[in-house]
Amino acid sequence: MNFKVPRGTQDILPDVSWKWQRVEKIARSICDVYNYKEIRTPIFEQTELFQRTVGDTTDIVQKEMYTFTDRGDRSMTLRPEGTAPVVRSFVEHKMFGYADQPVKLYYTGPMFRYERQQAGRYRQFVQFGVEAIGSDDPAIDAEVIELAMNIYKKTGLSDIKLVLNSLGDKESRDAHREALIAHFSPNIGEFCSDCQNRLEKNPLRILDCKVDREHPLMKTAPSLADYLNEESSAYFEKVKNYLDIAGIEYEYDPNLVRGLDYYNHTAFEIMSTSKGFGAITTLCGGGRYNGLAEEIGGPPAPGIGFALSIERLLLALEAEEKSFTDEPSLDVYIVTLGDAAREKGFEILGKLRENGLRSEMDYMDRKMKAQMKSADRLKAHHVIVIGEDEVNENVVQLKSMADGEQKKVTVDELIGELEK
Ligand code: ATP
Ligand code: MG
Repeated sequence: MNFKVPRGTQDILPDVSWKWQRVEKIARSICDVYNYKEIRTPIFEQTELFQRTVGDTTDIVQKEMYTFTDRGDRSMTLRPEGTAPVVRSFVEHKMFGYADQPVKLYYTGPMFRYERQQAGRYRQFVQFGVEAIGSDDPAIDAEVIELAMNIYKKTGLSDIKLVLNSLGDKESRDAHREALIAHFSPNIGEFCSDCQNRLEKNPLRILDCKVDREHPLMKTAPSLADYLNEESSAYFEKVKNYLDIAGIEYEYDPNLVRGLDYYNHTAFEIMSTSKGFGAITTLCGGGRYNGLAEEIGGPPAPGIGFALSIERLLLALEAEEKSFTDEPSLDVYIVTLGDAAREKGFEILGKLRENGLRSEMDYMDRKMKAQMKSADRLKAHHVIVIGEDEVNENVVQLKSMADGEQKKVTVDELIGELEK
């Protein structure tokens, strides 16, 4: 029997997992600086949560969810995204009653979408996301966007751009909706069956259709920009003003429609502009969702957030031919020759580790040369060599790999010597 990793998923192998850890560490530390606290929610939720919030007419709900009936006959779904679960938790735990508002949260973990596998698109992928719930101050929109941009910058990415739009409030969207229906309905027969269903239910979704992308009516469709009411325009202006204050450049794209129903006002994506990047250039998506908490039975609690996938961030780094500067390395590798030396080496290894020194020794009974090669491969900063003489004298040969300098030190002096 030959088992393989399921289609659309991947094993994160040890020569790559350290990069994931670097990204997570950077993202967590930035959240920490911005005073966002981690929240962990289950990997599955009631199916209805996503149907109601992400939206019945979206690709995610219609085609991409991993839904199953559990043994208690309940319909459950592996989470396709993180916002609905976080807001569910916000409402359930009455976080709207917390003294400090907005409630600022971040999460990371696997998401599941049954999609066609391609570069940058997986069926299980890891998102890092942020949600600020409880405030509709445009400054918090700018904060969330700035935070996302900073994650990319701190990883070393430079070929990125921010694309911004406003979806407006309900009144603006309703006006736009009527205009869209009027625009598409005479020719709706030329569109895919999904779009035909979307026309009455949610015509905005038509603009996000991947099948009818090239239809000429797409280009002439009424733009939301022309339907923003005064309040929505004023809000958008304030968000842009705060982005200016923060020194963040953006590109305005009136056609940016996010793939989830719960967004209003601010919508944004961060894209890779690197030539080396594949067809999918969106690294991060986010926006404001003022009605979401109410939609799932809570009090009004305006929120804004984003999610990025670590897979695409790492692909973007590769495309820019950038890597983290702090590749894993060892402080010390112990080379031993003979059984007595091996025992001594093992004892020293324990001491080094107790002192927090990243260290390793040979467990394959290899010749000295092979052990030295291992030390090189593992990027050891120092090598300790122990032979029979050293055991008898209770010393070791300590070699610095940076300058090749070697000296004899007693076992007692060793830690002090290494910490220099
Ligand atoms: P797309 O248009 O690429 O399908 P989306 O609008 O479905 O993206 P969101 O739901 O906004 O994506 O998710 C936010 C981010 O999560 C995306 O910008 C992307 O980085 C990442 N993402 C989404 N789907 C996948 C996937 N199948 N594999 C890897 N990353 C993904
Ligand atoms: Mg998608």
